[in-house]
Amino acid sequence: MASHKKFLVIGAGFSGAVFAREMAESGHQVKVIDERNHVAGNCHTERDSDTNVMVHVYGPHIFNTSNELVWDYVNRFGEFVPFINRVKACVNERVYSMPINLHTINQFFNKAMSPSQAEEFIKQLGDSSIIEPQNFEEQALKMLGKELYEAFFKFYTIKQWGTEPKYLPASILKRLPVRFNYNDNYYNKKYQGIPRHGYTSVVENILQHDNISVELGCKYSEGMEQEYDHMVYTGPLDAFFNFELGSLGYRTVYWEKETHEGDFLGNAVINYPGIDKKYTRVHEHKHFAPWEEHEKTSVFYEFSKETSENDIPYYPKRLKSDMDLLSMYLEKAKQTTNVSFLGRLATYRYMDMEKVIEEAIDFAEQAKLAVSEGKAIPAFGVPCE
Ligand code: UDP
Repeated sequence: MASHKKFLVIGAGFSGAVFAREMAESGHQVKVIDERNHVAGNCHTERDSDTNVMVHVYGPHIFNTSNELVWDYVNRFGEFVPFINRVKACVNERVYSMPINLHTINQFFNKAMSPSQAEEFIKQLGDSSIIEPQNFEEQALKMLGKELYEAFFKFYTIKQWGTEPKYLPASILKRLPVRFNYNDNYYNKKYQGIPRHGYTSVVENILQHDNISVELGCKYSEGMEQEYDHMVYTGPLDAFFNFELGSLGYRTVYWEKETHEGDFLGNAVINYPGIDKKYTRVHEHKHFAPWEEHEKTSVFYEFSKETSENDIPYYPKRLKSDMDLLSMYLEKAKQTTNVSFLGRLATYRYMDMEKVIEEAIDFAEQAKLAVSEGKAIPAFGVPCE
C-alpha cells in the first residue's frame, strides 16, 4: 500500500480546509469540493457592493478561543485584529449590556449594587428548589430568577429556536457568562479577533498548497469517492444518506438588509429579546471592522425559522426525536467504508469555529496515524451522541 493517499474532501469550510491542509503537509493528495462558489462555508465574508463593508454573508463570526494551538494555527493564515464583542440588548425601549453583568443588573433593577451585593441579590432571586437543572429554562431560573430570564432569554430563545426553552438543553444557556463585575465582553476566551481581510481569505490561504486542488460549484454525488482512497464528508449527516430515515431538525436564520448613511446602531450587535420584535438581533457589519472607515453602512435584521428543503441548516435543534434519529444515522455512518464524517453538520453539533478547527487538526492526526499503521481511518474523530 502506498504511504501517500488520495483524499476527497466534501466541503471547503474550516473543517474540510484544515483537514486538507494537514494531510497535504504530510504529503497526501487532497481534492476539496464545495457546492458553493466560494470557500469558507458559513464563515464566508465579502465586500458589500453598495457600501464596501466586509460583510459576514452567513452571519457574523467573532473568532474566540483559549486554545493557543488553534489561535496560532489561524494566525498562520491571516492577520487577526483583536476584537471584543460588546453586545447590547434592547428591552422595553431601554438598552442594557449583554451578557448579564453588574451593569445590566444595576440598570435593570435600578440599583447601584457592588459585586458582592449583586451576587447575593441574584442568589435570592434564583429558584433554589432546582438542584440539577435539566433544561434551558431550569438553568436560567436557577441562575438568574424569573425577571431576568423573562426579560432577556425566554422570548429570544423562543424566537431563535421555535420551541419552549424547557425543551432545550441547559448547555445553550451556558454559552453565555453571567458576571458580577462590569466586564461586558461577550466571550470569556483568551484570544478574540476578526481577520483583517475576512475569513474567506484565511480559508483560501489554508487551502493554498501544492497537494491540494479545489473545485467550487461542485456538488457531491454518490460514487465520486471511487477514484480516491478515502473521503471526508463535512456536509449534513442526514443529506449524506438522502434523508432515508428522516430529517434532523435544524433552525435556519435569514436577514433583511438595509443600507444607510453614517452610523445606524452605534454598535456591531443589538439583541432584541422581547416579543414585540420578530427579529432576534440586528448587526451593523462595519463595526466588526473598526479599523476601516465607511460612509455608508450595511445593516442586517436577523430572523430565525424552521429549516425547510432549500434552507441552509444553521443550528441543530437536538430535541429528543432528533437525538433518536441521530443515533440511527451514526450507526449507518459507522458502517460505511472509506468515509469519515467531520465538523458541525456531519456530526450534528452546535460548534464554534475554534472547536471545528481543533477537531479537524486532531482528526487529521488520527488519519495520518491510521495510514502509517495500515489501518482503516475511523468514521468519526469524536463520539457524537
Ligand atoms: N440568548 C438569549 N438572549 C440573548 C442572547 C442569547 O436568550 O440576548 C440565548 C438564545 O437561546 C441563544 C443562546 O442564548 O440561542 C446562545 O446565544 P449565542 O449568542 O451564543 O448564540 P449564537 O451567536 O451562536 O447564535
